[in-house]
Amino acid sequence: MKPASVNMLCQNCRETYWTLIRQLGHVQLPALRSIMLKQARIGNPAHTPNKGNAPLPINTRAQDLISESEAWLAEQAGKIRAAYAAYDWRKAWYAIISNKHTILTMSTAADDYAALEHIARRNEQALTPDEAMVVIGTCPKCGHQATSTPQAETWTCPDCKWQGGVQAIKAERDNKLWQLEYTGKPVEVARYLAKMDIHCTSGQIRQWLTRGKLHATPTKHKGEYVFNLGEITAMLDCHN
Ligand SMILES: [Zn+2]
Ligand SMILES: [Zn+2]
Repeated sequence: MKPASVNMLCQNCRETYWTLIRQLGHVQLPALRSIMLKQARIGNPAHTPNKGNAPLPINTRAQDLISESEAWLAEQAGKIRAAYAAYDWRKAWYAIISNKHTILTMSTAADDYAALEHIARRNEQALTPDEAMVVIGTCPKCGHQATSTPQAETWTCPDCKWQGGVQAIKAERDNKLWQLEYTGKPVEVARYLAKMDIHCTSGQIRQWLTRGKLHATPTKHKGEYVFNLGEITAMLDCHN
């Protein structure tokens, strides 16, 4: 039996790797390109200063992300057959898709997978509007704020590259919510919690206040309270 090479992927990684490859050509690249086309049609080239509006993060990044994604596809296609490296991205992607076994068992597979993971994560982030990003907590190693898309299962710190499960980071954050206070109206605290992917309505919060379930202290401003965030999340846990 051959010894397992360091660059061999386990079955689990192979499946994830294949999903990322499919998504790249099927979803991410077409979406990034359509955003680029729309920008071109609107006639808002990157060098023109935006009039009044804050530029979307996609404006500055889409072209870079497309180039990086296409370069990855060209490189992999070129490993199947040297001539494929010159293919346009769609043909390169098809060549990869129709050579599944070759790609997954390639001697460079682990490195290629790591490179693609990085590319796919950046693409996903660029394709997710900022409002849809949630604060899941902080990096346990360096304390950097951890934001991700609501569906993400793992998180990599952009600062120190620490990697871990989203659920664990959230659990750690939720433990600390008891030490956190938020001053504002029910609608404001609901909005604040939504940014942390904790969902309750201002109506629920008002109801808990009326029933004396929350020990929120009213401030001198009408309708405003000092809330304990742990108390609110505890209410949600037993009512969902
Ligand atoms: Zn693995
Ligand atoms: Zn970190």
